Amino acid sequence: MPSAPCEPAREALSRQGYLFYDRRSTAAVKPCLWCRRALGGGETCYKQQFYGIESYRCVQMTPTLRCNQRCLFCWRSFEHGVEEEVEPDPAALLAALPRLQKQALAGYKVHVPAERFEEASLPRHVAVSLAGEPTLYSQLPRFLELCTDAGMTTFLVTNGTRPWVVSDCRPFQTYVSLDAPDEATYRRVCRPESPDMWSLVRESLDLLGSRRSAIRTTLVAGLNDHDPAGYGALIADSSPTYVEVKGYMHLGYSRKRLAAAHMPPHERVRAFAEQVARHAGYRVRDENRASRVVVLEQVE
Ligand code: SF4
Repeated sequence: MPSAPCEPAREALSRQGYLFYDRRSTAAVKPCLWCRRALGGGETCYKQQFYGIESYRCVQMTPTLRCNQRCLFCWRSFEHGVEEEVEPDPAALLAALPRLQKQALAGYKVHVPAERFEEASLPRHVAVSLAGEPTLYSQLPRFLELCTDAGMTTFLVTNGTRPWVVSDCRPFQTYVSLDAPDEATYRRVCRPESPDMWSLVRESLDLLGSRRSAIRTTLVAGLNDHDPAGYGALIADSSPTYVEVKGYMHLGYSRKRLAAAHMPPHERVRAFAEQVARHAGYRVRDENRASRVVVLEQVE
C-alpha cells in the first residue's frame, strides 16, 4: 500500500519555493535565483554565459524527489522525505510547466514588462536538475523526448547510478555527477544506497563521449578536493564535451551536515580545475566567480 503524503515535509518545501505538480507525485518546479534575477534584467546564470541558455526562460524542475544517494552536500532533507504515491504522466507534466513557472514567478509580475513576464511563463529550456535523482522516474526518456518535440532544449543532471536509463535518454546536454576521484571517497561523500553504485556511475560516464555532455564535480573543501590526477584519468576515459568544477555552496539542509568552511573559495576551485584539466587533456573555457564554477573543454 502506498503511504500517505508526508504533509509537513511537502509544506516545508512549498515554503522554500517548490511548486508541486500535484499532491500525489513529487514532481516539482522551483525557479532558481538566476532565473528570478534575469527576469528583472539583472545577472544571469552561468549556463547563459557558458552555453547561451536564457536564464529567464529556463524552468528548473524534477519529475521526482526520490534519490538513491545521500550526498553530504545535497540541499535536500534526508530526514523528512516527501512520499510519492504515483508518478506523473509525462505529457501532462510537460503541459503543466508554463502554469507552474508562471505561478512561481507571479510575485515578480509587477516589477517587469508584461511582455517579458509572458515570455518567462513560456519556458524554452528545461533543466531537470532541482533535487532528487530524475532517472528514478520511469518515464524520463519519454518526458525528455516530448520536451524536445515541443521545441525546448533540455539539460539532464543525473548522479549516474542508473546507466541503462541514461542510455535511453536523449536530452540536449547530459550531465553526470562525478564527485570523487575513487570509490572510497565516493562512498564517503555521496553515501550511495547500494555497494555497486560506483561501477554504475563509471558505466554512465562511459556513455558521455558519444553525445553532448558534461561531467559535474561539486568540490567540497577537505572531502573530495584531492587527487586531481584521479579525476583527470576518469574524465579522459569518459571524454565528455565539458567538465564543470563547481564549489560547494553552504545552503539548504546541507548546512546540517557540513560547515561553511567546506565551501572552497573561487580561487581554490579555479586552481583545482586547472590541475584536473592538465591531467585530463582539457583546458579552461570559462569561469563564473559568483557561482564558483569553472568550465573545461577538450583540447582539440
Ligand atoms: S544525487 Fe543529487 S539529489 Fe541525490 S543526494 Fe546527491 S545531490 Fe542530493
